[in-house]
Amino acid sequence: DPVLRLSAIEKTYNPGTPGEVRVLRGADLTIRAGEVVALVAPSGAGKSTLLHIAGLLDQPDAGGVEIAGQDMTGQSDRACTAARRRDVGFVYQFHHLLPEFTAEENVALPQLANGESRSRARARALDLLARVGLSTRADHRPAALSGGEQQRVAFCRALANAPRLLLADEPTGNLDPATADHVFDTLMDLVAHTGMSALIATHNPDLAARMNRTVRLENGRLVS
Ligand code: ADP
Ligand code: ADP
Repeated sequence: DPVLRLSAIEKTYNPGTPGEVRVLRGADLTIRAGEVVALVAPSGAGKSTLLHIAGLLDQPDAGGVEIAGQDMTGQSDRACTAARRRDVGFVYQFHHLLPEFTAEENVALPQLANGESRSRARARALDLLARVGLSTRADHRPAALSGGEQQRVAFCRALANAPRLLLADEPTGNLDPATADHVFDTLMDLVAHTGMSALIATHNPDLAARMNRTVRLENGRLVS
């Protein structure tokens, strides 16, 4: 089974009004287990809309969404939230870490929300932080970390519940080029280690070239 299958996705904002924007017009995408796919799109093309639909944060007007072999088309909010927490990890351009919690706590929290025990959540958080070279930063709050370190903690948090699919929107877009390069390598290592699949939006052709393949969002459709 593919990890993500989007079929004939349609999405229009403000339909039937002067502000109507037809963003997705029959978008198809299949991501197989272990595949890392670059998503390239000009600003305003509908990249965030597509990632939100793929991550079950938003419903399409029409079309099918399948995650980890489960057909989520038209499912309830409750079912989507459960599937999202189990199967999907998100990374954004800005880390969105909780400022009052340490790096370790930020990585442990999604696991606790998923019913994991404190000791196991802590052990997994420390293991993930070690993988991204942040063992000595586990007790630091986000404000005490560099931009690259904050983003690496955000990767660990996204992977905390061992999701099948990682969705990332310009995950290194906020970093200087040298740091971005290094932090991106760390993300690729993590993804390869866990065997997860990923859809990663980027404007950077060098980063796109390091993924398995690239899809472009053009006129509401995905083209290879
Ligand atoms: P991208 O992430 O590629 O920049 P978005 O998915 O954010 O694109 O937006 C695609 C288009 O849809 C843009 O023209 C944007 O202005 C419009 N849009 C996005 N969200 C909304 C919304 N909630 N209501 C109305 N229009 C929206
Ligand atoms: P929580 O466990 O904090 O309630 P959810 O299960 O609602 O989180 O969402 C899981 C992930 O989806 C969050 O880590 C967050 O990154 C992302 N997310 C949730 N809501 C939104 C949103 N409105 N916009 C963008 N991302 C969101």
